[in-house]
Amino acid sequence: MASIQYAALTEETLSSRIGAIKPIAQRLGGDPSGWSIEEVGDGNLNLVFIVRGTLDTVIVKQALPYVRMVGDSWPLPLYRATYEHHALVRQAERDPGSVPEVIHFDENQALIAMEYLTPHTILRKKLIEGERVEGLGEFLGKFCARTAFRGSELSMQSADKKADVGVFSGNVAIPAITEALVFTDPYYPAEMNHHNAVLDPLVTALRSDVALKVAAQQMLQAFASNTETMVHGDLHSGSVMCTDRESKVIDPEFSQYGPMGFDVGMLIANFLMSFFSQPAHRKSADLSDYQGWLMAQIMTVISRFDEEFTRLWDSERTGMLYPAALFEDQGHSSQPALQAVLDGIWHDALGICGIEMHRRVLSLAHNADFETIENIEERGKLEARNLMMGRDLVLQRSGSDPAQLIETLASRYA
Ligand code: ADP
Ligand code: MG
Ligand code: MG
Ligand code: MG
Repeated sequence: MASIQYAALTEETLSSRIGAIKPIAQRLGGDPSGWSIEEVGDGNLNLVFIVRGTLDTVIVKQALPYVRMVGDSWPLPLYRATYEHHALVRQAERDPGSVPEVIHFDENQALIAMEYLTPHTILRKKLIEGERVEGLGEFLGKFCARTAFRGSELSMQSADKKADVGVFSGNVAIPAITEALVFTDPYYPAEMNHHNAVLDPLVTALRSDVALKVAAQQMLQAFASNTETMVHGDLHSGSVMCTDRESKVIDPEFSQYGPMGFDVGMLIANFLMSFFSQPAHRKSADLSDYQGWLMAQIMTVISRFDEEFTRLWDSERTGMLYPAALFEDQGHSSQPALQAVLDGIWHDALGICGIEMHRRVLSLAHNADFETIENIEERGKLEARNLMMGRDLVLQRSGSDPAQLIETLASRYA
């Protein structure tokens, strides 16, 4: 299949086209013609098939040469599957067990066969349903810290890190989406934007806020030009799958080199959007309990991130940056350096967090937390709280304690 020209798979053609690929066939077992195949892609971009054999089930994910949610009028390079594959391999090294195992990768077909996560479901659905996941904040805080630290020159040798930045530099189309949809489009009437008309006065106020737009562009400049670490790039609650007690991260096709605070900031924004949407999804008797649980997950993400980053700083700081030769070897603590690095990460993370809270309500790709609220007046009231907190996060990101700022603002607007 590797030598064959790209063609999108269908439920009908999948078994004949991939049935001869050994790692997949051995894993699934049985005659390929007997495999049960179901396309389940619910994302914005790709084909995702669940393929069931006699021994096991696998996921086959294939990129399409265009944006699925828009159609072939918006072409998007197939090479994004290559970066998704690179990212899955690196994440598995940097945080073992955190992502689905890759079973097979075919660059020509832009196809990744991977472990089927079951009975995991998408975190966003769980949060809308009011379900809890044990260890969620711990897992996500650790994932963000490990991938940030181990993908950076705090851990990597300068030459290896720069070579990897080179590998990812071929990926221009995907970062361009983030640069526009996340950082820029929310702040002007971009063509593909849409928002709840109830929000019009607030949207006008946000788009007239020059300080906010300057801050968003500063964050974009950091995103576009800073290669601190390999980020997941799309770490929202639709990219996390969980059981009641186990979580995994999926879908890193937006991975690129960028700021260490990017993933954790985007992730926290998605918890906050869930938090603000809850009055529409919960009975009032359960509301404060569940919002309390969500806030506890955010607090745990922050504290776990700091703890794990600190542990890695002390035990794995083997890269080019902040070498022991400058600190410990001369009898000086490196704690002030660690604090400065963490302050920089949270400065970026809080900025990204606020911008993500804006773009999911104002730009192209909205989220189900708000979109499933049918009454537009009610939805608008909740979205407005989210937008206002997003602005405060962006404008107050400098020198703030992240946990304190988030708690204070969330209780002010809730
Ligand atoms: P897209 O890039 O199009 O957003 P995703 O990788 O997010 O695609 O996958 C789309 C959906 O397919 C997910 O929301 C999830 O329901 C399902 N899915 C993807 N990967 C797996 C997996 N490894 N195990 C189980 N389900 C998966
Ligand atoms: Mg699904
Ligand atoms: Mg997805
Ligand atoms: Mg995706």
